[in-house]
Order: sequence, then C-alpha cells, then structure tokens
Amino acid sequence: MALTTLIAGAPPSYAAGAVNIYSARHYQADDKLYAEFTRRTGIQVNRIEAGDEALLERLRTEGSSSPADVLLLVDAARLSRAAAEGLFSPVDSRVLQSRIPETLRSAKEPGGYAWWGFSRRARIIVYNRQRFGERAPQSYAELADPRFKGAVCTRSAAHPYMLSLIAAQIEHQGEAAAERWAKGVVSNFARPPRGGDTDQIKAAASGECGVALSNTYYLARLMRSSRPEDQDVIRKVGFVWPDQKGRGTHINITGGGMVRFSKNRESALAFLEFIASDEAQRMLADGNNEWPTVPGVVVSNAALDAMGSFVDDKLPIAAIGARQAEAARLIDKAGWR
Ligand code: FE
Repeated sequence: MALTTLIAGAPPSYAAGAVNIYSARHYQADDKLYAEFTRRTGIQVNRIEAGDEALLERLRTEGSSSPADVLLLVDAARLSRAAAEGLFSPVDSRVLQSRIPETLRSAKEPGGYAWWGFSRRARIIVYNRQRFGERAPQSYAELADPRFKGAVCTRSAAHPYMLSLIAAQIEHQGEAAAERWAKGVVSNFARPPRGGDTDQIKAAASGECGVALSNTYYLARLMRSSRPEDQDVIRKVGFVWPDQKGRGTHINITGGGMVRFSKNRESALAFLEFIASDEAQRMLADGNNEWPTVPGVVVSNAALDAMGSFVDDKLPIAAIGARQAEAARLIDKAGWR
C-alpha cells in the first residue's frame, strides 16, 4: 500500500502525557476506546491508521526516529513478523501477564513479551445450504476430502489468515502431512483463490462455491447488516465450527505491543494495560464482532450470540507465528496462491 493512502490522525507528539499509536485496526468503535483512555489517564492519543503492511514499512523506514509508541496489528502472522524484525520492545508487565493468557501472547524473550493478543477471532467453514446442508465438512481435514471436489473456495493462501491456519496444520501434523492436506484442498478448488473472506461467503451463497473459509467477524458483519442483499446471503449459507471433535477451531488475534524506539514508554505501557481492562476488552472486541482475550470478560453481541459457543484450538498463537516461513514454502509447493 502506498504511503499516500495513510490516514493521519493528529500529528505525532513527543510531549509527556501523549502516546502515539500505529494501528492496523480502523473501526469507529476504536475511537471510543481511545477517548476512554484519555478520559481516565489524561494521556493524549495520536493515531496513525493504515494497513498492516504499510505500518510495518513505515516503521522500518523511520527506524530509531519513529514517533510510534504502540503498534497494533491483525493476525499472529504479522505480529510474529514484526517481532522477528525487532520492531517491538519486549514488555514485562504483571498486569498484562495476569490478564492475557499465555497461549495468546508472543514467546517469552529477554525483557518480557514482544506482543499481546487483545481480541480473538475464529476461522470457520461456510457452506451453501442447498448443496451441502446435511453434509458440510466438519473439519479442516475434510476440505481435502474428494467428496468436495470442485466445491472448495479460499482467499489466496499467501494472506496471513490462511498462512496462520496452514501454520497451525504444520504444527499439529508435521510438514509432510500438512502438504498432502494442502494439495488435497487445492485439488478440490471450485475456482482459483481470489478476493477476501466476504467474497468467499458471497460465492458460497451464490453457489459458485460449495464450501469456503472465513473469519467469524465477516459472517457476523453480514448477519448484522440490514441490507436485503446481505440478509439474502445469510439465508443461503450455513457455517461449521471446524474440528469440534478434534483439536478445536483455529483462532487468531488482534494484538500489539510497545514499539522498540518508543519515547513515551510509560504512556505506552499504560495504554497496553488499559486495553487489557474489562471495559476496553469489551469495546475492542465488540467493535469488530470479536471476542475478548481476557478470560471472563463477556461481550453481548447479537450475531456472536446467535453463532453460539465452540471449542477453540489451544495451540499457542506464538507457535503459529513461528511457522510462517514453512507455511509460505508449503503453499508454493501446493500451488495455493
Ligand atoms: Fe480481516
């Protein structure tokens, strides 16, 4: 993404009592979150919002002169890459350690943890009711089953959401088995990968695809939409929580941490700890139809409530992040681009 597409907030500030946040999230509900932080602490929030890649590129370019204090990114794939590039400053916080489950943060490094998960989403199977109403795949493994020949749609596996799912398969079954699975999925394609998750859901509704993969919040968004065409899509698709009898449904996170060259370190830490508070957890999750990462914090969200509860894969999210390079090699071999 070009830098001209960046949406700049207030100009960055080095003044005490300010925190500069680079965020790949851009939901209106997050505005309330920042305002609430300022109301509680008196610390001013300056934001730069852009896509994940644009933010990472900007941080690399700015280096030690970057004004950024906090970096918020979407998906373990990108968080792990940012950590591997040394863009975070590990944080040792008793508040964060007691609030954020160990499976939903980076691996421990000297000095603490590079990143923390602040909201959760799951990757589900969506299917065309008419074609597969009674016999939808119940697991990721089944997407490679020959009975779904010509029916499977996904976005490009080079996208972080797919890379993370594939990394999880590698972690669970090893590279050889995961590669066989990937080749099986590719041989079941209804069409070459294209579009985002919402496009997969719509193609499942139209019947162009029989089964597809999507993050939960894209389905929830369509469920909550009042547009007739979106309601029509929802009537035509069903969904499955994959692997309920096995390892559980793959989950991922939105997360963040303190930037390596942060000049407002106390404010940055205060902000990160604030996002782990009950109220901020609810705002952050509900703003994008996601779930909190802090155990016991409950969001009342009509779409998520309607989707019901599920067993999630307990695989440490950092382990998924660590296998990104293997996942990228695997999709090349499987032709899943
Ligand atoms: Fe997304």
